[in-house]
Amino acid sequence: MSKEKNTDKVYFGPTPDPDLLNAKEFWDGAKNNILMLPKCNSCKKFFFYPRIICPKKGCHSRDIIWKQASGKGTIYTFAIQHIATDGWKEAVPFVTAFIDTEEDVRMLSVIANANPEDPTSIKIGANVVIKFEKVEDEIFMPYWEIV
Ligand SMILES: [Zn+2]
Repeated sequence: MSKEKNTDKVYFGPTPDPDLLNAKEFWDGAKNNILMLPKCNSCKKFFFYPRIICPKKGCHSRDIIWKQASGKGTIYTFAIQHIATDGWKEAVPFVTAFIDTEEDVRMLSVIANANPEDPTSIKIGANVVIKFEKVEDEIFMPYWEIV
């Protein structure tokens, strides 16, 4: 790494202001190290990000439930971030990725244990698991690790 992050901290980004209106279940799950995903009770498909209507074409049901996800997925694609602003400045370089979860949901996140100095070591399709880190009393941030 180009600079030492002499701490055990994983998450270096800004602390978010959680959407407790549409995503309370997500943040409550994170506090217990569980990935909770919204699922349409009409078409039976999971989706992300959380919202009050199903985003699937031809559905748009408002009958949304929450289910515990496996917390497992694969890397769809990734990028090395060398320039960042605001709260992310401290984190560069870091690896962001689109993760395809076992529930067929694509999430944008950070891969904490990937080496941004060696992109060839990061493989499309690699298996990843979600983890959470406490950043404030009520806020646990999700991130992924290659397994
Ligand atoms: Zn639906």
